[in-house]
Amino acid sequence: MKSSMRLFIAAVLVSIAHGAIAQQPFRMPASEQKNIADNPSWTAPQKPFRIYGNTWYVGPHGLGVFLITAPTGDVLIDGGVPGDAGLIEGNIRGLGIDLHAIKWILNSHAHSDHAGGLAQLADDTGAQVIAGAADAPLLERGGLDDPEYGNRFPFPPVHVARKVGDGERLHLGDLVLTARATPGHTKGNTTWAWMSCEGKRCLHMVDVGSLSAPGFKLIDNSNDPNLVKDFEHSFATVAALPCDIPLAPHPEMVDFWERVAKREHGDANASLDPAGCRAYAQDARKVFEAELAEQRAAAALTR
Ligand SMILES: [Zn+2]
Repeated sequence: MKSSMRLFIAAVLVSIAHGAIAQQPFRMPASEQKNIADNPSWTAPQKPFRIYGNTWYVGPHGLGVFLITAPTGDVLIDGGVPGDAGLIEGNIRGLGIDLHAIKWILNSHAHSDHAGGLAQLADDTGAQVIAGAADAPLLERGGLDDPEYGNRFPFPPVHVARKVGDGERLHLGDLVLTARATPGHTKGNTTWAWMSCEGKRCLHMVDVGSLSAPGFKLIDNSNDPNLVKDFEHSFATVAALPCDIPLAPHPEMVDFWERVAKREHGDANASLDPAGCRAYAQDARKVFEAELAEQRAAAALTR
């Protein structure tokens, strides 16, 4: 087939796909409704606040959604569950920030608790969505046919304007965001790193990708044969990152609220936890290896 013809067919397919996204209102299945109801912190209001320098917390209480402001445009990371976009937008406006100042929306991974609000946020801000290349198909099919969850936790499909690989740097004026591929939890799971400064003091901010494997089949997983290798790679990557202020899609992963509380009680440096990324990676690896050993033992018994 001529490449022009191929391009034309691809363009038609893309427009059909987008049309379908636009025409069919998203319907949340009972499994997803229950998931959200079982985790009330995912939709719990949280007053937005400055974490450090130009990095702000704008999510619901239980899901890390971060805004990084810069003169050339702002960057949002993650979008909560389906239905969280309004809360996040209210928080951003509450900081006196115009939604249209947001140029990019980054995603940590293509699960409904971090990607659920992306489509609406992209529509309302006009921002481009950027994600790990291997998660783009899952984002664009709205979480359907997830290798681990099947169709249980869908979300409104979202177009990924830019797909990034490991080590890729995104420049927005002086702001540089680095994507580190931390696959396992999803294939395109991404840890985002950037610097935030107060005066001359610049710190490494890291939104650590989830490193858990809840209920995953770790051996003989035909949907993801590289799962164990991917996780091992990701534990090592996160442990080695320069990291002053660890953040996370689930704030409790890095004891975020404990640090915030200490800061509120007068410890100005409590946000810092330079060992936090390494500690999280080590803890996650221990849990993972225990689960792997258990699954291997169970498999040996049935052979
Ligand atoms: Zn997840």
